[in-house]
Amino acid sequence: MEVTSSLLTPRRKTRQISVGNVLVGGDAPITIQSMTTTKTANVDGTLQQIYALAAAGADIVRCTCNEQEAAEGLAQIVPRSPVPIIADIHFHVEMALAALEAGVHGLRLNPGNLRKPEEIKLVAREAKDRGVPIRIGVNAGSLHPDLYAKYGGATPEALVESAQIELRYFQEVDFDDVKISVKASSVALMIAAYRLASATFDYPLHLGVTEAGPLPGGLLKGSVGIGTLLAEGIGDTLRYSLTADPVEEAKAGRALLESLGLRERKGLDLIACPSCGRAEVDVIKVANEAQQALQELNLPIQVAVMGCVVNGPGEARHADLGIAAGKKRGHLFIKGQIVRVVPEDEMVQALVDEAKKLVAEGVEARLAARDLNAEKEAEADRALLLDAKGSDANHSNEKITEIRRRINNVEK
Ligand code: SF4
Repeated sequence: MEVTSSLLTPRRKTRQISVGNVLVGGDAPITIQSMTTTKTANVDGTLQQIYALAAAGADIVRCTCNEQEAAEGLAQIVPRSPVPIIADIHFHVEMALAALEAGVHGLRLNPGNLRKPEEIKLVAREAKDRGVPIRIGVNAGSLHPDLYAKYGGATPEALVESAQIELRYFQEVDFDDVKISVKASSVALMIAAYRLASATFDYPLHLGVTEAGPLPGGLLKGSVGIGTLLAEGIGDTLRYSLTADPVEEAKAGRALLESLGLRERKGLDLIACPSCGRAEVDVIKVANEAQQALQELNLPIQVAVMGCVVNGPGEARHADLGIAAGKKRGHLFIKGQIVRVVPEDEMVQALVDEAKKLVAEGVEARLAARDLNAEKEAEADRALLLDAKGSDANHSNEKITEIRRRINNVEK
C-alpha cells in the first residue's frame, strides 16, 4: 500500500529500552502489546493465548502476576513464550519480586496502588540488577489519592506528576530503564495526558485508552486516542484495551499501525467501495466473502472489491489487486489494469487465485500473464453500463445548460 508515514508529524525521539529482545523507543518500530485473560497459573492455557497473540501481531505480551501460583506459572511460561513477557503488578511488592525471579522481561507497576517508597526502590534495585525494564503504568482510575485531592480529580497534570514521583524513587537507586503510560478511559483526557507526558519526559511512551469496552465502541475509542497521538509523533508502543478476545487487541494494534504506514503490511488489507445505485452486485456480500477467503491466506496485499466497473478500477487503482462488477461479470484488475474478466459467481474465487499468484510471482509477472482481450471486454461492459445509466447520471450537463440560459437571460 502506498501510505507513507512521512506525511505524519515526525516521531518524537525517545530513549530506547529493551524488553527481552524487543526494542522499544528511539527509532525502533512501534510495538504492539496485549494481555492474556487466562489465569497465569494455567500455564498451557496462557501459552496457547500468547501464541495466538503473537500470530495476530503482538510483539510483547503482559500477564497478570497477582498470586504466588501466577508467579510460578510465569517461571514456566517465560522460557516457552515466542515473545517477551511482562508481569502486571498491582498492590503487592512481593509479586513484583517473584515475577523477576520467574525471569520476566519487564514489569508494569501501578504507582496508584504500590505506594511505599522503600518497596518501590527495592523492586527497582532488583530490576536493575537483572536488566529488566519497568513501565510506570499510571491509570486515571487508580490515581494516588493525594494527587487526586491536589488536582481535584484525574487531570493530565495529576497523571504526569504520578509518573514523576515514581521516577524520583527510581532515580534514588539509579534506575532509568523505564517506559511510561498515562492511561484513562476518557479519550480526551488520555490524549491531553500523553501530550503533556511527551513534553515532560524523554522515556518511551506506552499508549492506551484503558477500559475502552467491547467492540465496536472500544475499538473506536482506542483508535481515536492512540491514532491521534501516533499521528502527532507521540508513542513507542501501544495496547488496545478491549473487552473481547485479546487477539482482537493485537489485530487492532497491527491494523492501526499499518493504516498509518508505521509498520509494514503483514496481512491482508481489504478495501471496498461503500456501494451505491451504480453497483452491479451486492458489494457487502462479495466483500465479506472475499475477506473471509483471503484472511485465511494472510497475504500481505491490499485487495479492492468495487461495486461497478465504471468507477471501480480507477478509484482503486492503487490497490495491488481488485475486482469490479459489471453486466454479470467481474473485472479482475492489478494496479488498476484489467487482467481478466470472469463470470459473476466466480469473482471471489478468481480474486483468491490471483492473490496467491500475485504474492508468489509479483506484479510484473502477473501483468505479463494477463488475458490480452480482457481490457477490450471490460471496455465493452463499461460502455454498455454507461449507455444504460448514462455517462451523466447526475444530469450535470442539463443543469449547466440551464444555469447558462438563466444567467444569459438576466444579463440581457
Ligand atoms: S465503485 Fe461504483 S458502485 Fe462502488 S461506490 Fe463507486 S460508483 Fe458506486
